[in-house]
Amino acid sequence: MKIRRAAKYGFCAGVRIADQKVKKFAAGGNSGNILGQVVHNERVVDEMEQLGVHTVQGFDEVEQGTIVFSAHGVPPSFHQRARARGLRILDTTCPFVYDIHDEASVALSEGAHLVFIGDPKHREVIGYTHDLDPADYHILMTEAEARAVDWTRYGRVKIFYQTTLNADEFEPVARLIESRVPATRRADTICYATKQNQEAAHELGRDPEVTCIVVIGGKRSANTRHLWEICQRYKPSYLIQGADDLRSEWFAGGGVVGVTAGASTPDYVVEEVERAIVALAPSSPVPARA
Ligand code: SF4
Repeated sequence: MKIRRAAKYGFCAGVRIADQKVKKFAAGGNSGNILGQVVHNERVVDEMEQLGVHTVQGFDEVEQGTIVFSAHGVPPSFHQRARARGLRILDTTCPFVYDIHDEASVALSEGAHLVFIGDPKHREVIGYTHDLDPADYHILMTEAEARAVDWTRYGRVKIFYQTTLNADEFEPVARLIESRVPATRRADTICYATKQNQEAAHELGRDPEVTCIVVIGGKRSANTRHLWEICQRYKPSYLIQGADDLRSEWFAGGGVVGVTAGASTPDYVVEEVERAIVALAPSSPVPARA
């Protein structure tokens, strides 16, 4: 059995920097609380816990010390709330997410109605919208939701995407809005890292030698799930968090196993999974890379 990794996979620059910032903070003998997962990967969260940086789900759970804002960012008001409470802030928000906050503010000041295509429960989307007047924006995921909006109320619209989405899937939603409001503009907010990982997943799926694909990532990671959806279009594909989730029957046919990983998956998890896949193939005791 051989393993073929996607040309691009795993940690993006934003997550790598967030991970490093928190580890450096902990290495300095500090402890604190992360609002939400620093990145959507349970292994990384466990690692942080062991370093003394705990994950909390709500602001009110942090009464003192340092609060860590994750790579997904937070609503601007959270910075003021933290300061008002006397908390120190370790901000690991990805610069690309900050750019989208800025672009949305500019669009709003220019009179555009904002549309965020994404998951309303995702921290990144909450970060963009929490502080806005609800009359100024919509969060949409489906064409049905877009159809239900009275677009005649808006002279201009600006569309933003949650950075980790697969934009192709939401093309009908964007087109519908454009058909109702001619002065609609799209912001190019799908992250380059997400695009590269997605393009590489398409390539892996199209590779005629690849018989199945293992997609590694946290179960709450949106970008990992999108990679899995892409891979499934081409080959039998399995979404796992780590080596323990592998099943030998997936590899019974042998051949080349494709491997990719979401933007919040550390390299060491990818390597563990590859070793475990090879170990599950009795005919292939020595790891081989196609
Ligand atoms: S996926 Fe992109 S936007 Fe999200 S943290 Fe990584 S680099 Fe930043």
